[in-house]
Amino acid sequence: MDRATLCVQAGYEPQNGEPRVLPIYQSTTYKYSSAKELAALFDLESPGHMYTRISNPTVEAVERKISALEGGVGAMLTSSGQAASFISIFNIASAGDNFIMMGNLYGGTTNLFLVTMKRMGIEARGADPSMSDEEILALFDDRTRAFFGETIANPSLAVFDFDRFSALAHSKGVPLIVDNTFATPILCRPFEHGADIVVHSSTKYMDGHAVVVGGAIVDGGSFDWRAGGKYPELTQPDGSYHGVVYADAFGKAAYITKARTQLMRDLGTTPQPMAAFLLNLGLETLDLRIRRHSSNALRVARYLQGRTDLIGSVSYPGLEDSPEHERALRYLDGGMASGVVSFSMKGGRDAAMRFMDSLRLASIVVHVADARTCVLNPASTTHRQLSDEMLREAGIDPGFVRLSVGIESVDDIIADIEEALSCL
Ligand SMILES: *Cc1c(COP(=O)(O)O)cnc(C)c1O
Repeated sequence: MDRATLCVQAGYEPQNGEPRVLPIYQSTTYKYSSAKELAALFDLESPGHMYTRISNPTVEAVERKISALEGGVGAMLTSSGQAASFISIFNIASAGDNFIMMGNLYGGTTNLFLVTMKRMGIEARGADPSMSDEEILALFDDRTRAFFGETIANPSLAVFDFDRFSALAHSKGVPLIVDNTFATPILCRPFEHGADIVVHSSTKYMDGHAVVVGGAIVDGGSFDWRAGGKYPELTQPDGSYHGVVYADAFGKAAYITKARTQLMRDLGTTPQPMAAFLLNLGLETLDLRIRRHSSNALRVARYLQGRTDLIGSVSYPGLEDSPEHERALRYLDGGMASGVVSFSMKGGRDAAMRFMDSLRLASIVVHVADARTCVLNPASTTHRQLSDEMLREAGIDPGFVRLSVGIESVDDIIADIEEALSCL
């Protein structure tokens, strides 16, 4: 079925007389009629729920929907996008191992990988699209376990070169993990372009209403964990689970099964049933919303490009003259590129702050990718401690504004911007 249909229908199929809408199973625990049946669950011999830290029927229905949307073999929801990114790597890397990360990842992911995971003895090695293949391949060694990138990078809006980086990762026998948060499975299905594992911050477009923090990991089932002998945690007995060998017992779903039965069990970064229910409501309209976000953002980006009196560069992969446009056409459905547009004010930090203060429809928030148009100026908020000079060194223009275009009438959004610009 088409993804628009899966958004509405996948994951939950009520039987005769059952509630039409996915129920919220607000229960930490599940009843069994015999000790033997429960024992079989603990041995991973029969499917079912034992404790909500590990699985829950409401959460499971939403996992099925997201897996169907991505075209995977299984998915696991997490309490946040951060937890999903962490588990996606930690599931296949231990102290002494390393992995390759694209240098333009979301700031929270960059800190998790470079600072926190380093303290666990797992090293992230930065790659950049401007590097040659030889330079990137030189980052790998026999302890390299994965390659991690973002479909549409937040906030640089670079579009990931799937063909190139999946070939590099696979030539070294490691899986490609992609954060598909900004594109969502409506605009891009990374498994069709060589990715093996997908992660999401569902907090953004999937929820879409800014009501609940969450994340997801989806297993494409495509990676052969045995081939290079590099993934003993999947191909050798797990002592914490009666010696189960995930690759034998669960085949294509080995990775996602281990993530749940071992890491979700031990780390407990569990989504609440209510959170999954709210996420599901958001997912039902994802196809409609992301198309509207994308068409609105393209109109806004074109308007901003026309305001050369006050605005310098405008970046949006949907613009024909964007350096990302060719990749956007190749990997993003119809070249649609979500709602996030960034641009820089010629007047620098002060102009950016005055522009933002003068907006009336667009609000100033630390969030992106929900139904309401919002703005953020890193120089006056998240990067406030840095001087203009330090900002430029970090690759951030002091007048840089990130605009997350919502699903309101695009005429109203542009009128709001026009009025705010007239106040400068
Ligand atoms: C927000 C975000 C995250 C982190 O997700 P949380 O749900 O806030 O933990 C990860 N990746 C990207 C691309 C994001 O935009």
